[in-house]
Amino acid sequence: MSKVKTRFPPSPTGHLHLGGARTALFNWLFAKHHGGVFLLRFEDTDRERSKQEYVDSIKEALEWLELFWDEGPYFQTQRLEVYASYARKLFEEGKAYYCECPPELLDKKRKQALAEGRKPKYDGTCREKGLGPGPGRVLRFKCPQVGTTVVEDLIRGPVVFDHQELDDFVLMRPDGVPTYQFAVVIDDLTMGITHVIRGDDHLSNTPKQILLFEALGATPPKYAHVPMILGPDGTRLSKRHGALSILAYRDEGYLPQAMRNYLVRLGWSYGDQEIFTLDEMIEKFDLSRVSKSPARFDPDKLLALNAHYIRQEDTTRLAEMVRPFLEKLGVTPPPTEDPKFLKAVESVKPRARTLKEMAEMMRFYFVPEVEYEEKAARKFLTPEIAPALKELTKRLEALPSFEEDSLEKLFRDLAAEFQLKLKHIAQPVRVALTGRTVSPGLFEIMDILGKETVLKRLRKALEYIEEAQNG
Ligand code: GLU
Repeated sequence: MSKVKTRFPPSPTGHLHLGGARTALFNWLFAKHHGGVFLLRFEDTDRERSKQEYVDSIKEALEWLELFWDEGPYFQTQRLEVYASYARKLFEEGKAYYCECPPELLDKKRKQALAEGRKPKYDGTCREKGLGPGPGRVLRFKCPQVGTTVVEDLIRGPVVFDHQELDDFVLMRPDGVPTYQFAVVIDDLTMGITHVIRGDDHLSNTPKQILLFEALGATPPKYAHVPMILGPDGTRLSKRHGALSILAYRDEGYLPQAMRNYLVRLGWSYGDQEIFTLDEMIEKFDLSRVSKSPARFDPDKLLALNAHYIRQEDTTRLAEMVRPFLEKLGVTPPPTEDPKFLKAVESVKPRARTLKEMAEMMRFYFVPEVEYEEKAARKFLTPEIAPALKELTKRLEALPSFEEDSLEKLFRDLAAEFQLKLKHIAQPVRVALTGRTVSPGLFEIMDILGKETVLKRLRKALEYIEEAQNG
């Protein structure tokens, strides 16, 4: 077998979504597994809907997933001459012909066929007219009318298509722009693609593409059609299911390795293994383990995987990654090397499922003043607890350092003296320090905040209780 070469050919008419990203990943992995080449190509012949913005965002998403391409990106609109020369060749060899049927008439015939319950199909009006090129004329492929084409699909096995089902499809439009069907074949041929791995919505295009390869005297690549992705409710995955573009997942604080791991398991499995490093994926990826039935998108599983990768991640790296999310929340954390910042990251690392959640959980460390959650303040910052809080503030002031052991002893002694349970003091202090009822361990956060900030926040809580009482 010649060196494996796969391609990812998105149309830049929208952002990269889960389905496209999975297709890209499978192609990338297949190429890497075989020591081959992965190529990127933009199918931008739909000039109305293709946008530079989408070219950029698709590239950005692939780069974020670290699915770097070895060749390209190519743009079909820069290759119009190539398509034109192959079109001429097919025409000159009598394998394609010009058609002058007016679009309105074709449309009428199509509607009539549908109304009569027939499959719409070009009726061959111009097939034997011997027309040459001319304004308004399209070039059609002279499709064989008898026999069958078998797609030897690497995932589904052989799929037989009867030529009677096909029609003389259009290769070139009157404006010299190729159709998808034609451009894709010329590209796959001239770029030396050995394997086409794509969504099974393209399966019905494959016999046409194989016939074109044969008409050009070339061997078609091998095809593998991956079953689609369904939403949790079993219908085709869409925005309705909360599925986002890949960059939106990045912006929500998902890690690229979690996303890749999630995507690889959408339709591919290796025993019951769930977690794969990139090297493992490359080593184990194989089309024979791609499922024949559709995969289901499960946002909770993605979240759980992301939490796993956050726990696994190096703390300094995480600190760098969470920084922009903190900035978005309006706080400026200390430099990444600051041990306080790293400890703050450590304190939320076991619980955060996304970087966004992580930033929300640790924002309180860096705010100049804590805002209390209303319910938490009402429940815990009460006049009854004020005397104990006052005493606590006094004793903390006298404490030389904030070690966990000495803090714990101080809290226990104080609780005993006030005939309270530890939690009866701990919760109000938690609210005073974080504004919330849920946070990392109390002594851990006291250590990270430092004596000065802790005292400042406790005094502010006492003021708050007083004001609430008087107001
Ligand atoms: N541009 C096509 C798409 O985005 C590519 C199909 C193919 O892989 O041949 O669906």
